[in-house]
Amino acid sequence: MLAHPRTTTDAGFQRVESVVAHEYFHNWSGNRVTCRDWFQLSLKEGFTVFRDQCFSADMHSAVVQRVEEVGILRTAQFAEDAGPMAHPVRPASFIEISNFYTLTVYEKGAAVVRMLHTLLGPDLFRQGCDIYFERHDGQAVTTDDFVKAMEDASGRDLTQFKRWYSQAGTPRLTVTDRYDALNKRYELTVNQYCPPTPEAQEKLPFHLPFSLGLLRANGSSFTFEGGETTKTLELTEAQQTFSFEGIDEKPLPSLLRDFSAPVKLSYPYTDEQLAFLLSHDDDGFNRWDAGQQLALRLINQLIDAYQQGRALELPQAFVNTWKLLLEQAPEDPAMSALLMTLPSEAYISELATEIDPIAIHKVRQFIKSELAQRFRAEWLELYQRHDSHLPYSAVPAEMARRSLRNLCLGYLMSIDDAAHLALAEQQFETADNMTDQFAALINIAHSPFNESSEQVLGNFLTQWQHESLVMNQWLMVQATDPKPGTLSKVEQLLQHPVYDSRNPNKIRSVIGAFCNQNAINFHAEDGSGYRFLADHIIQLDAQNPQIAARLLTPLTRWKRFSQKRQAMMQAQLQRIMDSGNLSGDVYEVVSKSL
Ligand SMILES: [Zn+2]
Repeated sequence: MLAHPRTTTDAGFQRVESVVAHEYFHNWSGNRVTCRDWFQLSLKEGFTVFRDQCFSADMHSAVVQRVEEVGILRTAQFAEDAGPMAHPVRPASFIEISNFYTLTVYEKGAAVVRMLHTLLGPDLFRQGCDIYFERHDGQAVTTDDFVKAMEDASGRDLTQFKRWYSQAGTPRLTVTDRYDALNKRYELTVNQYCPPTPEAQEKLPFHLPFSLGLLRANGSSFTFEGGETTKTLELTEAQQTFSFEGIDEKPLPSLLRDFSAPVKLSYPYTDEQLAFLLSHDDDGFNRWDAGQQLALRLINQLIDAYQQGRALELPQAFVNTWKLLLEQAPEDPAMSALLMTLPSEAYISELATEIDPIAIHKVRQFIKSELAQRFRAEWLELYQRHDSHLPYSAVPAEMARRSLRNLCLGYLMSIDDAAHLALAEQQFETADNMTDQFAALINIAHSPFNESSEQVLGNFLTQWQHESLVMNQWLMVQATDPKPGTLSKVEQLLQHPVYDSRNPNKIRSVIGAFCNQNAINFHAEDGSGYRFLADHIIQLDAQNPQIAARLLTPLTRWKRFSQKRQAMMQAQLQRIMDSGNLSGDVYEVVSKSL
C-alpha cells in the first residue's frame, strides 16, 4: 500500500508498519476513548505509542526494537527535558498546542505507560485496559481516568506514580552497593534526584520500576523467587536501600534492565566489568548498553586528548573487545549490528557537559576508521559472507543480514581505499532493493572520492527523479555530508528542481537534516550554520509556523555549548525575535529559549 522494496528501505518498511499499527490502534485509544482537552494529549498518544511499540516488538526482534526506542528517548527526549522547552507529559500551560506534539508527550508518555505495565505485570495491566475501554467507551477523559482504571484493576494506590504526568525532567539514579561475605548479604542503595526544569525547581521523588539482575563471576545469574533472573524493585523515596540474602559470592549488578524507567543511571562500573556485562548479561538490552557505555568512556577520554592536542590512540583492551564482537557476529547478525554501532553523535552530545561538535565528530570517526583498519580482513569477510543472491524479502532475518552487511560496508568505507569504493559501487549498481542501494549511496556520497560521489548522486537522481519520497532521501544524503563546504551545496540544493519550498518533507530533508544531522557543518566556527537556520526560520514563519517552530530546536539548545557558540546562537535567536510579526508558534519557542 505505502512501501515498495525498490523505493523503500528496511527502516522505511518498519516505520510504515508501525505507523499503520499506531493509527489502527487509535481506533480505541484515541477515537472511541479520546482526550477531554489538549493537556491530555499523551492519554491517547503515549498509550498508542506504547501499543505500537509492543506490536513492533512482536513482529521483529524485541531487543532491536527496544534499543531503537530507547535511542530516541535518550537522545532527543532527554535533550528536550534538559532544554528550555521542557514540559511534563501532561503540560500545565502552552501558547500553541502544535508546539506540544513532542517527544515528551509521545515517547516519554509511552515510557510512562510501559512503567505501569512493568509495575502491574502484563495480566493486571491488560485488565486495567479492559476496565478503561469499557468504562469510557464514547467519552472524552483524562490521564487520571486512565491511571484510575489501572488502580481499580490492581487494587494499588498509584497517587505517587502520577507525578510522572506533572513533573518534567529526567531523574538521575545514583547506585552504590556493599557486599557482606560473612552474612552472604548484598545491599544496594539507590538515590534519585531530578534537576529543575522551567515548571518547577524542586521535584518530589518518582515512583518507578527498577529491574535488575545479579551476575556471578562465571557469568551465570543468581535466581530470585520463582526462578527468575530479573527482579523488579520499586523506588518511591529519594534514597532507598535494598537487601538480598543468601548471596554466596560478590555479584556484579546488571541495572535498569530493559530500560525499566526513563532515567539516567550511574554506577561505578570498571571497564572490565562493562566488558563482562557485554559478553555475559542475559538481558539483551543491557548487553548492548554495556557496550555503549564502554565506547562512551573511550570517546570522552579521546575528546579530552583531542582538545588538548594530544595524539589519539585506541587502548588494547578496547581492540580486544571488538575482536570478540567480530568473531561472534555471524551467530546473531541483528544483535551484532547493534553491538558494533558506536554511540551516535547526538547521544554523545546529550551526555556532554559542554558539547564540542567538532571534537565529537573527529573522535568518533577516528575510532571507526581505526577499527576498520585493524580488522580490515574481518569486516571484508563478514561483508562477503552476508551477501545473498536471493531476491529481496522483508523478513526479520533478511533485514538483520542486510543491516550487518551494510554496517561492514560503512566501516570499510571509513578508510580511503579504492578497493572498498569498488565494492560500494558494485553494490550500488546491482542492488535489487533500496536498503542496499541507499547504503551504498550514502557511503560513497560522504566519502572523499568526489568524482564517484557526483556520479552515483547523478545516477540516483536520473533513476528516481519521479519518486518524490526517494528524492527526499537524495536531498538528505547531500545535506548530511560531513565534508567541509556542505553549506554551499545545501544552498544550491534549495534551488534544485526537485526541491519545493512549500513541501514540509522537502524542507525537513534539506534544512532539517543539515541542522540536526550534520553537527560538524551546522556548528561551523564562523557561525554560518546558525545564520542559515535563522534566515530560513524568518522566511518560513509566514508560510508554515509549525514547521518553523520545530526547525528551531537546534538553536534552542545554545546553553549546552561553549561561550563563543552560545553568543553566536543567542544572537541568531534574538535576530528572529526582532524580525517582527512572529507567529505564536515561533514566538513561544524563541521567547522561552532566550
Ligand atoms: Zn497518534
